[in-house]
Formats: sequence, structure tokens, C-alpha cells
Amino acid sequence: METCWTHRSAAALAVIVLGAGVAACARKATDEANDNWATYGYDYAEQRYSPLDDIDTDNVGTLGLAWYYDLDTHRGQESSPIEEDGVLYTTSAWSKLQAFDVESGKLLWQFDPKVPGPAGAKACCDVVNRGAAFSDGTLFIGTLDGRLIAVDAKTGRQKWSVVTVDQSQHYTITGAPRVVKGKVIIGNGGAEFGVRGYVSAYDVLTGALAWRFYTVPGDPSKPFESPILAEAAKTWTGEWWKGGGGGTVWDAMAYDPELDLLYIGVGNGSPWNQRLRSPGGGDNWFLASIVALRPETGEYVWHFQTTPGESWDYTATQTIVLADLEIGDSVRKVLMQAPKNGFFYVIDRTNGEFISAKNFVSVNWASGVDPQTGRPIENPDARFYQTGKPSIQEPGPFGGHNWQPMAYSPDTGLVYIPANDMNFPYVDDPGFVRRKLGVNLGVDGLAASLPQDAAIKAAVKAATRGHLAAWNPVEQREAWRVEYPSPWNGGVLATAGGLVFQGTANGELKAYRADNGTPVWSFAAQTGVMAPPVTYRVNGVQYVSVVAGWGGAFPSVAGEVSWVAGKLPNRSRVLTFRLGGKAKLPPAETLIAQLPALPRSTASAATILAGKTVYHRFCYYCHGDAAVSGGVLPDLRHSSALGDPVAWTSIVRKGALSTSGMIAFGGEVSESDSEAIRAYVIQRANESRPALSPLPSGKKSE
Ligand code: CA
Repeated sequence: METCWTHRSAAALAVIVLGAGVAACARKATDEANDNWATYGYDYAEQRYSPLDDIDTDNVGTLGLAWYYDLDTHRGQESSPIEEDGVLYTTSAWSKLQAFDVESGKLLWQFDPKVPGPAGAKACCDVVNRGAAFSDGTLFIGTLDGRLIAVDAKTGRQKWSVVTVDQSQHYTITGAPRVVKGKVIIGNGGAEFGVRGYVSAYDVLTGALAWRFYTVPGDPSKPFESPILAEAAKTWTGEWWKGGGGGTVWDAMAYDPELDLLYIGVGNGSPWNQRLRSPGGGDNWFLASIVALRPETGEYVWHFQTTPGESWDYTATQTIVLADLEIGDSVRKVLMQAPKNGFFYVIDRTNGEFISAKNFVSVNWASGVDPQTGRPIENPDARFYQTGKPSIQEPGPFGGHNWQPMAYSPDTGLVYIPANDMNFPYVDDPGFVRRKLGVNLGVDGLAASLPQDAAIKAAVKAATRGHLAAWNPVEQREAWRVEYPSPWNGGVLATAGGLVFQGTANGELKAYRADNGTPVWSFAAQTGVMAPPVTYRVNGVQYVSVVAGWGGAFPSVAGEVSWVAGKLPNRSRVLTFRLGGKAKLPPAETLIAQLPALPRSTASAATILAGKTVYHRFCYYCHGDAAVSGGVLPDLRHSSALGDPVAWTSIVRKGALSTSGMIAFGGEVSESDSEAIRAYVIQRANESRPALSPLPSGKKSE
């Protein structure tokens, strides 16, 4: 059975009915059909626009908490829930899946795929999961260790499970599958470590592999898996396949049933630094591209590359939104994306033709996009590995926009983008050595570390912000914006009630007027909210749900520039609202005021520098820049093992905490390196340990 695809224009709401799903879809072509939130982005067009309008700009002030549920993990929460006929399905960190009765808030079941702890160390960007797919009474979820699992929606029992990756490599799955024409489509991540990207399709009933499309060419001495990869290989140089090449499809997909095209968003190169991947240059298809495929066969149809010769982690994995827009004298079937590179693209989704692009955040790596070719007009300084100079670049690898989904309202004609305002110093890593256990970027992580100079720190923090942008895609201009003190705010929901909902890094869920951005409602969530809210109606009552909880890439790495660090406890909670809701959250947790005794810093400056270098090779990606946690993983400056070399080495080298995701680094971190890291963290703790710990007392960091 197919999921119905509701295809909207500003004027009309029509339902397109497909093949085998005719009877079910026809029945659903009523108001009742619009009550559910049936797939990741509401429907195949991924607009995150709900036609429900019971909650509107006039009554949203009475929106209150209906119920909340405390999840059993403290890691990042990025899930976009699904709601079907009175049951809310959420996913959470470590790839868990929950079902709730919407009206009572009762947990009906939780499915735990028991992801092994060490899989956490393969995740560049926290042990997150962004959602499940639903089709015909079955849920589908990708797990961090690379499995795709079908779960009975009634009972929470596993129906089938397949391994979709080579688990000896650094693949992970954090994105939501999509179900199209009887197939479950799933990609993966891992390009920060070094893998080859692809997307796979499995039969919904049996889990049998139907097709696989590789996004980058493999070793040319072997046959290419598809004819287009022979063409793609002409855009690569050197021995790119040895490092995998990257191009992982870790998040966005959309589908147009009328054109029968599946659109996938392709990620960055591996390593980031093109000198180390494709030393003679080249566009490196299909990195940083949107690729259109036939969903039944995986056959390539067209692609559009946003960042040729990608070198800055400028993925094109961000939300792909399909809409029909009046441009000039005609209505164009378009696809819209605000990828990491900072430009907002409008593309003809029938053939991949470039229509327009404009920067939606401050951009200095390119002066614009060529209106004829759609290629960025690069600033020569951006290719840091050619100039030998650092490129302090906007946007940086966190992107002008990241995975937090944007929304489009056909009522206002505006796209609502959770935008990041940040820069990053890209510095070549001339002594690059590929490592099995660390990230392989070819960009000097130590050089990117926040200097401990007070004035520089203040300037960097002030320049690290976020905003919600309401973007007119036809005129390519900002209609309004709401400024935030931090980047990494939540995904967006737009509704026919004239509202836009968004969570914030600083612990609120907000509603704005969709037409002009006037704030009309807010709720104190007690924790950072990154995940996108969804809305649906059960027995005539409209609800709004969001999975609250801080984490993911930016908080893991950001250290001191993370807004939340040391200010707001991190907790994971499902929050559901309705008009007149009267439930109350318990009082906010207090932060720990007591610290374990701190050893004095007695190591030599040379040892501390050696420790800093190794820390920024293996540790900073999860424990934060300059040994400052961004509020997700434990802040090592508080570690009780700091004064105990035996306990320290058993954790760092031997995997004493591997069930929590802290793997044994002994294969690549020597005993003396481990001691040097300890000396560095002791020095950082003496220099900078805050009075409060960012983790709530008595809670594991799971
Ligand atoms: Ca990346």
C-alpha cells in the first residue's frame, strides 16, 4: 500500500491517488486524512505544513501541556514523530522507538534494538535518531549500528531486521527511512571517518534488498555498479576510493509520485580536504548534490550539485521541500533546499534545471551563484589547501542550515529556515595520517580550537548565533527573522492556523505568526529543543508534540561557545500540547554545585601540549573543544578519574566505559599519549573549570 501524497498549491488541496493504494487513499481523501502526521515531513513533499487550523493565531495563547514523558536517555533527541490514528510514535537516542496513546500520554510500548555501546564511537554527531517510517501497520527504523528493522506498530515486536552496512567500517544510521512504492529507502552516515556513501531500498514485507545506488564511484579497476558512476569517475582524480570518498545520504529525501522521482540529498567528501581526496581537483560527483532516482530500480535520472569540489563539509543533505511556485508567468514544479553552504536553491524538480539561488545567511566563501550555471562563484581564499592560509569562513561545517528541518507554508508562500550564524577556520593538515579510530577530515582540529584569549573568546561567542528566517523563495529574499542567542535551534512546523512552531537551544518551544514573525506563545521546556514539532488531530482535538533534548553535532564539539554548557541541564522528554492543556512539568533540575577534588597541574608544558594535540585528534569531537563539554557528554574537567592514572588509562585505552560508547582507544593512543591527555585535561580543569556541572546529578550520560 502506498502512503497518500497530498499535493498542494497555494490555491487548492488535491490528493493524488496511486496504483494499489486507490481504495485506502480515496477513503483518506477527507478531512480525516489530514488528521494524521503520517511520514517524516508530513507527506512526500516534506513541507512540514499541516492543514489543521483548530489551533490558530487567536487561541494559541491557551495552548497548554497535555502530558509529558521522560525518556530513558540523556543524549541528543532529533526525532520527528509520526502519528497514526491516535498513536504517537517517537524515536530517541540509541535508535529506540516508542508508542504513546495520544489522549492519555500512556507509553504503549518501547522497542530497544540494543545498539552496542561501541557503535556510539562511530557516530560523528551523537547517538541520535531522526525518526521512523510508517506503512500499513509497520514501523521502520534505522539503527546507529547500521540495521534496518521492521516493527509491528500494534505490539512493538520486531518483524524483520537486515544489516545495511559493512559493520566493520564507520557507518552509522541516524536518518529516518522513507517508504515509497513498497520499498523502504535508507541511507547512512560516516563521511567524517571515511566511508563510501550509498542509499538502499528494501522490500517492506520481507526486508530483501531491492537496489542500492552508490553516490560516489568506487575503485575504477573494478566494474562500476551503475553506468552513471563511469561518468562520475571522470570528475574525480587520484585514488579517491581508498578513503571511501564520502557522499553519505544521512538525512533528506523526498518523492514526487506524479513524476515518479525520488530525491536524495548527498553529503560531504571524505576527507573534507579535496587535496587529500581528489588531488587534481574535479567536481567530484555526486558529493553535495541532490540526485533524482527511480524508486523502483534506483536508476539515476538527474542531479544538481550545490558545491562542486566540496572541501568544507558543505553537505546537500538538508531538507528537500517540493512545492509548485508561480515564477514569472508560469507555475514551476520546484524543489527547494537550504544546504550547509549558505545558499537557498530553487531547482526545477522535473529535470534538475537551476532556477535561482541566494544566500540566506552571511556567506564569504563564494560571492554568489552564477545565474546561468548554478555554480557558486568561489572566493579563491576558500581553498585553504591551495593557498596554505587559514580560511575563516562563513558558513562553517555546522552549516548555514543543518539537519533541523525547514518548513514551507503554501498559505504565506514562505519557507521557515532554522539558520545558524557561525564561522570556522579551515586550516590544512599537512601531516594528515588516516586513523581508524579518529575523524579523518584533513582539516587541522587543533588549529580550529577556541583560543584562550578573553577578547578572542568573547568575539567568537558573539559571532556564534542563530535565527529563524522566513524566506520568500520566489523573490529570494528574507521576509522576516527572529534572532536567537545560540545556533542549533529546532526544526520548524508550519500550520494552516497561521502559525510557525520552533524549539530553541535556550530551552523554549515558541510559536510565531507565520506572516510576520510576531511571537504569540512560548513554553519553558527546561532543556534545549532541536527536534521538529509535529501536529495532528485525534477525536476532534488538535495536538502539538515535540521530543525535547539537547545534543547532536554542534553541542558535542562546540565546547565553550555552546550556549547551553553549564547553564541548562540536558534532559530528554516527549512534550504534547493541546488547547486548555493543564499538565505541569516538575521543577527544573538543579545543576551540580559540588565538584570532585581536582589534582594540581604538575606536568611540563611540552607534555600538556602533546596531550592537547592528541585530545584534538581523538577526543574533541564528542567531549568538546578545549575539553569543555557542550552539555551532552560528560565534561572531562569534572572526571573523578583525572587524579587516577590507572582508572584513566582503563577508560581511555582499554574501554572500561565502552557500554556507554567510550571505546578502547589503545590501538591508536599510546600509554604516554593517554597520560598526556590526562595532563592536558587537568591543566584545562585548573584553568577553566566552571562552578557548575552541565549534567544533572545522579544521571548517567546515556
Ligand atoms: Ca559531514
